Order: sequence, then structure tokens, then C-alpha cells
Amino acid sequence: MRWGIMYAVVALAGLLFGASSGYWTADVSRAAGTARIATGFGTVCSDRGGAGHPCWHFNEENYPNMAALDLHRNLGWQDANQPVWWRQWGTSWYDLIGPGGGGVLFEALPTWANCTGVRVTLTNGLAGMFHYLHIDPAAGVHGSTSQEYVTYPSQVIGRKYLGLTKAAEKPNCAWLGPHLHQSGDVAWYTDIYRNYPPIQACGSGSYCWSTYAFYVLLP
Ligand SMILES: [Zn+2]
Repeated sequence: MRWGIMYAVVALAGLLFGASSGYWTADVSRAAGTARIATGFGTVCSDRGGAGHPCWHFNEENYPNMAALDLHRNLGWQDANQPVWWRQWGTSWYDLIGPGGGGVLFEALPTWANCTGVRVTLTNGLAGMFHYLHIDPAAGVHGSTSQEYVTYPSQVIGRKYLGLTKAAEKPNCAWLGPHLHQSGDVAWYTDIYRNYPPIQACGSGSYCWSTYAFYVLLP
């Protein structure tokens, strides 16, 4: 289990701090395995009281099937300007992005959308979409399909910097202060809201955990 522990520690460090070291670009051959997608920011969620769970909610106007968590670190207004990363991992690079490779598209939400953020879509035969709302998309994110990744003997971790959490939102966006609203559709491939670790109350209207808020298993 040594590698499992190591990759979990590395992945969690990146999740929390966006640590940047040891990433390079290379190619690896596909091996059988499982790819996963995780939350990008925070280990605290706000109590939204929906979807049979204290934090999950379904409130995206044009995407009613997107199960969401409001993620933060209990820092109040200092939860603004926090880096948000897309993260995924698997037993090979191709397990991350689907059969044949090249299967993740990053896009800034259009200007007509109520809220600001990034959409991540699985392509190349894999269904699935994820939203990272209340962040300013980083330069170069829109239209990109590239990621950084790091390889270990039994794990590959892919990541992409998506942007910073916002200090203010558009007038028509439902927003109660700086946080990341991260959501995913509930298709079979990306059934995120039934894959979460134990959480516990950790303050007024907040729930905490010590690992990923949710993960997605890809086929
Ligand atoms: Zn939300």
C-alpha cells in the first residue's frame, strides 16, 4: 500500500496547496486501471441541506442535474483569491483521459452565463461534465485540452490550474461570499454525489473531511 499512501498524500498536498514540483510532460502506454477525478479546492463544505446530504445541492439554473458542493477552507473573505486546480489520477495517463487519449476539454463559461467559472468536459467517448464556479478562469484555460501530469510507478496524476476564487460575482449569480462551487453531472460515468468520504460538523453550518470531498470513477 506504500504507493497508494504516497499518491494519496501527494494528491492531497496538491489539492490543498497546488504544490508545484516534479511535473513534466511525457508519454506513457495505456494499462488497465481506474481513473478518478477529485475536488479542486477546500476541505470544508457549507450546509446547503439538499440532496440527502448536508452539502450537496442542485441549484444550477441551466444544468439542474449538476450535483454541487460549495467548497472552502473556513477562511471567510480570505477564501477569495485561492488557487483552484482540476485534478485526476489513474494507473496510466490514458486511464485519465479515456481510450485513445485526448479526452478533457477546459473552457471558460460564456459571458452570458450568470456566474463566472470554468467548465470541464470529458470527450473521446467518455460522457461527463464538471463546473468550477465563482473563479476567474486562468489565462490559457479556455479551449485547452492540455494538462500537467506526474508519473509514479503505479500512478499518474494529471492537473491543470483553472484560476482563482473570486472576491465578487456577477449581479445575477447566486453567491454568498468567496468559495468554489464545484459540481458534476450525475450520469453513470460521473455520478459524483454518491461518492464521498465521511464528513463531520466543524463549525457553524460547515462540514469537514480529511480527504477528497468527492471522487469520480471513470470506466
Ligand atoms: Zn453552490
